[in-house]
Amino acid sequence: MIGVDLGTTNVRIHLKGKGVLLREPAVIAVLKGTTEVKAVGDDAYQMLGRTPANIIAVHPMAEGVIANYTLTERMLQQFLRKVITGPSRFLRPNILVCIPSGITEVERRAVIQAVNEVGARKAYLIEEPLAAAIGAGINIADPVGSMVVDIGGGTADVAIISLNGIVVSESLRIAGNTFDSDIMQLLRDQHNLLIGNRTAEDIKCSIGAAELTDREDLSTEVRGRDLINGMPHSVQIRADEIVEALRSSLDRIATSVKSVLENAPPELVSDVIERGIVMTGGGARLRNLDSYLRRLTGVPVAIAENPTDCAVFGTAKALELGPDFLDSLNPPKRI
Ligand code: ADP
Ligand code: MG
Repeated sequence: MIGVDLGTTNVRIHLKGKGVLLREPAVIAVLKGTTEVKAVGDDAYQMLGRTPANIIAVHPMAEGVIANYTLTERMLQQFLRKVITGPSRFLRPNILVCIPSGITEVERRAVIQAVNEVGARKAYLIEEPLAAAIGAGINIADPVGSMVVDIGGGTADVAIISLNGIVVSESLRIAGNTFDSDIMQLLRDQHNLLIGNRTAEDIKCSIGAAELTDREDLSTEVRGRDLINGMPHSVQIRADEIVEALRSSLDRIATSVKSVLENAPPELVSDVIERGIVMTGGGARLRNLDSYLRRLTGVPVAIAENPTDCAVFGTAKALELGPDFLDSLNPPKRI
């Protein structure tokens, strides 16, 4: 049995009895105009922004949905082939793939097709908030409402779950990548400095925060290109500037959390108020995001243990729940 977290930023694969065997960026490099694969994962990530004219390297699932489903299919196939080696190749495993909520039917089919092509016995799909909830240790079968806020690279998913299903949810295209763009814009507008996505992500992870307490006066040096004379240049940037730059994106996530609470049946809302919100995904690591959400919603917030692995652990645990549960997720389609 194989559980896959097909995220917009990272792919993780869990093999029963072996644990999480693969954690790599969701990137593929192909020969331009073809689907001839040059590299996937870590190797392809190194090529981002550095490819010669005849090769393209992309995050095929960026923007939260599968932008290029043929490339997604290829990428997923390559990753699965990496872990399905030796005798396990002949065992025809059941494969459960966690997909961002909100992907289209065509994209779902592309994922199923990739899974079938590597010789799966049966292919199943599970939506990210449900997988993340299971992986965060929530007993989703309980007749009690639990709220999960998963913040990945391309999407943030907010969902209330009860009795094995998503009762109310919202998926928004504001997540880690948006925070990176916010930081790029801050440097451009306030410091005349052009920086790349990866630099922005580094700044976010080192000094970024959703809010600051009195003692956090962090700052860091940022290198980029001076927009005025085009030459390399560096500036000092403070954490409070980052907090300000992320404000509007974070507010939209908080608004979504409030709106899901407003649209949920009152019994479930009272469960959530009592049990608190659980945050998962890489974005949950943004400093003080928990206290920020607590302040804006008035509901207790906790970060799951290993937030980035919740979805893949969730797929592994879901596979153990048996065929009835898996069939209930969505009717398995074969092509
Ligand atoms: P996905 O489900 O979309 O593949 P992940 O759950 O793997 O995404 O999360 C990736 C996102 O988490 C990226 O935008 C990354 O920059 C962000 N991230 C990872 N670590 C941190 C951190 N310490 N602080 C803020 N953001 C982080
Ligand atoms: Mg994810």
